Amino acid sequence: MTLSKHPSPAFTAASNRLTIDLGALADNWRRMGALSGSARAAAVLKANAYGIGLKPAAETLYAAGARDFFVANAEEGAALRPIVPDGKIYILAGLWPGNEQLFFDNNLIPIVNSSEQLDVFLSALSQRGDHPCVLHIDTGMNRLGLGATEALALAGDAARPAGFSPVLVMSHLACADDPAHPLNCRQLESFQVVAAAFKGVESSLANSAGVHLGTDYHFDLTRPGIAVYGGEAVNGVPNPMRPVVKAQARILQIRRVATGETASYGASAQFARDSRVAIVAVGYADGYHRSVSGGGVTLRQATPSGAFGFLNGMKIPHLGRVTMDLCLFDVTDLPEDAARPGDYIELFGENIAIDDVARAGGTIGYEMLTSLGDRYERAYIESA
Ligand SMILES: *Cc1c(COP(=O)(O)O)cnc(C)c1O
Repeated sequence: MTLSKHPSPAFTAASNRLTIDLGALADNWRRMGALSGSARAAAVLKANAYGIGLKPAAETLYAAGARDFFVANAEEGAALRPIVPDGKIYILAGLWPGNEQLFFDNNLIPIVNSSEQLDVFLSALSQRGDHPCVLHIDTGMNRLGLGATEALALAGDAARPAGFSPVLVMSHLACADDPAHPLNCRQLESFQVVAAAFKGVESSLANSAGVHLGTDYHFDLTRPGIAVYGGEAVNGVPNPMRPVVKAQARILQIRRVATGETASYGASAQFARDSRVAIVAVGYADGYHRSVSGGGVTLRQATPSGAFGFLNGMKIPHLGRVTMDLCLFDVTDLPEDAARPGDYIELFGENIAIDDVARAGGTIGYEMLTSLGDRYERAYIESA
């Protein structure tokens, strides 16, 4: 990992490069904060900060003003604690018998997702005294959370244990990326009722896409993730965020292929003209999913369109199947000296949107980011 505070990264001769723009990351977070209106924006740092690196992401967002942090589990929370000493760290998975001590030792806030977890938390409290928690209410996603009825009963329960004082009630939207979906309103209404029953307790509903649904959805705290990392949050709307991650891979060889020949496994690339093909050092082991394969490779029922790379000012189509360490791009339309062994092609970044590559592979930017793997050399820059 290279940490450079300059706009141009210092790389070695590695075959794959990731340039991570912490300036864009901070900007995107501030933007989601501004869009959150009077609500505070948290930072969501689960899965190694969506694959970009927990420490640099956490340091950057802390410096930008974030003090509320969401991670997936207590191990991620323990890793985050020394980076944000006075931050609130919320643990999405909650706690279970045996890992309570991790919460106390690292001052982590469990998100209580079920009545079983509530019992575990209460019995840990009875030994410990006082510790904050969050109540997660399921309002229609049917994934994690107490039912709304259960939560309302708890809110009105005069016999609640004295030390039990949730600092936040939250819920999660199932369809926020589709603003017209009727479930958004239903979840909002159900959450409003529960949030009102917990008087004086902060509330939180919106992820990135939820922030875009408007003020009603913001409550006290928003939880933007993907948008901060530069990904698309809302379907069918131009992405207003700055790209954070650029992925590049090296051309190992330029191969000339004659009309009628084929290339790659399954003879999956077929050539209707004499072509020049760049053999590039990236594959599905680097999170460049096999499903982005182009050239009419049938992987499911549908025929995916295939991804594009970018080289010397031109979009270049991917050819044939993506393999573990290698894939092919068509550079026939570039001048000969514009595609040479050793050159780096952009897989995604400023010129090719990560979500376009994801779409070509039937997936989403979230999955691309969190599958990048560790064969990339990572360099961190801070552009203005
Ligand atoms: C991951 C997650 C988020 C962030 O979602 P994005 O769609 O990345 O903005 C917010 N809330 C919860 C509960 C999550 O699990």
